[in-house]
Amino acid sequence: MNELKLSKRLQTVAEYITKGAVVADIGSDHAYLPCYCVLNRLASAAIAGEITDGPFLSAKQQVEKLQLSSLISVRKGDGLEVIEKGEADVITIAGMGGSLIAHILKTGKDKLSGKERLVLQPNIHAHHIREWLYQEGYALINEEILEEDGKYYEVLVAEAGDRDAAYDGVSFAAGMLVGPFLVKEQNDVFIKKWSQELKHTENIYRQIEAAPPSEENRQKLLELSERIEILKEVLRR
Ligand code: SAM
Repeated sequence: MNELKLSKRLQTVAEYITKGAVVADIGSDHAYLPCYCVLNRLASAAIAGEITDGPFLSAKQQVEKLQLSSLISVRKGDGLEVIEKGEADVITIAGMGGSLIAHILKTGKDKLSGKERLVLQPNIHAHHIREWLYQEGYALINEEILEEDGKYYEVLVAEAGDRDAAYDGVSFAAGMLVGPFLVKEQNDVFIKKWSQELKHTENIYRQIEAAPPSEENRQKLLELSERIEILKEVLRR
């Protein structure tokens, strides 16, 4: 992967950049995504935010090497603190766990004008992001699921709007867990991911069931059986 050829995962994120947008890529690491978007004129300008020294320096070097410093600003800082409110039309946060992405959005809420599009790519636990989006009144406008190098990735696209529209016609709990667009689409990657997840959850259930009973285990079994029921229902659709 480089600034000319993105991974399938980041390519999918790039597809949701609105043409000519100013993009803020938070947790940019090597800055491949903002460089690709600017080089391909998907974005008119970009901000690459990084909290860690190594990736921050690598993003800076990458942008300088490509002579894109006038169009891409590389900034060091925690989450959305690197941007001004209203500065970006699209905010991308990719390649992290869903709870970290939700945490970045939550702590940086004062930097969101409500007009920007959010393109979020969690590696795991996307439900934390859906919960945050719903709570804050964002509408999910699309979702993708893909497989690359044996791993599953989801991409969530949201804008301020009708938060309930995406969940129309699906059970709310199932929509939150597996994604309202994805559950309606039911593509092969979705079926594969959630069938594996169902098996894994059933195995954990059996192990806890065989362990000495305790209040903690009883609670865990309850949660796992709810998850198993949701997944069975989802895969029956
Ligand atoms: N976004 C790139 C991608 O999808 O390939 C890089 C993903 S990399 C696994 C995650 C990056 O996010 C790391 O470089 C890490 O330093 C950065 N990061 C983690 N927490 C962050 C935060 N709160 N603010 C900014 N960057 C953060």
